[in-house]
Amino acid sequence: MKNYSIAVDGPSGAGKSTLAKAIAAELNILYVDTGAIYRSIGLYVQRQGIDPKDGDAVTAILPEIHVDMVYSDDGLQHMLLNGEDVTKEIRLPEISMYASAVSAIPAVRSFLLEMQREMAHSHSVIMDGRDIGTVVLPNADVKIFLTADVDKRARRRVKELTERGTPRPFEEVLDEMRRRDWADSHRAAAPLRAAEDAVLVDTSEIDFEESKERLLEVIRRGLAL
Ligand code: C5P
Repeated sequence: MKNYSIAVDGPSGAGKSTLAKAIAAELNILYVDTGAIYRSIGLYVQRQGIDPKDGDAVTAILPEIHVDMVYSDDGLQHMLLNGEDVTKEIRLPEISMYASAVSAIPAVRSFLLEMQREMAHSHSVIMDGRDIGTVVLPNADVKIFLTADVDKRARRRVKELTERGTPRPFEEVLDEMRRRDWADSHRAAAPLRAAEDAVLVDTSEIDFEESKERLLEVIRRGLAL
């Protein structure tokens, strides 16, 4: 079979990365987390002390930035920012807002577009993000829009943060998630929305195993496996 691509879009905390990672392992294909690329740009901007909403300032420093995605033997995606492995650092909570702000700048999006398309061109991938089915891979073989109630998503994020040893209060996480959802879906450049031909999967009332089964079903049907 030729390389195929699966696009998974949706708001933060819907379970995209956990599910896409598990599906990549099951289908033996590459999992590409595109949020990590925006986070790497966000981190660079934060380190330079630049206002992430200042489109001109951010656009001006793009030529200084080189981001690479590399995979370790265990299949985990690592982000290299000008050669430095920033995989852990980009997960810091303050970087989420930086990533969201810089991702609204059209020059940032076009700067990262080719890199994402190239990954899908050279491998079979399951790629998650906000605009994969609409902009990055409009011809993806399967498109999924994953969503869940904001309350459920915030609760899951709190659990994940607690397990990671960096607990945060529910209200704070919920508020931040709402703000990020709003910003991601109201920006002019590639806003978060479901592609017309995407299959909608709501994970509010179903657990990980059931969500995974549901997605595999959609994928098998889409790929006619
Ligand atoms: O998925 P994650 O939460 O890591 O993404 C961080 C931010 O990057 C999102 O809030 C969104 O603003 C941006 N993003 C994007 N397009 C993508 C992936 C992420 O705009 N394809």
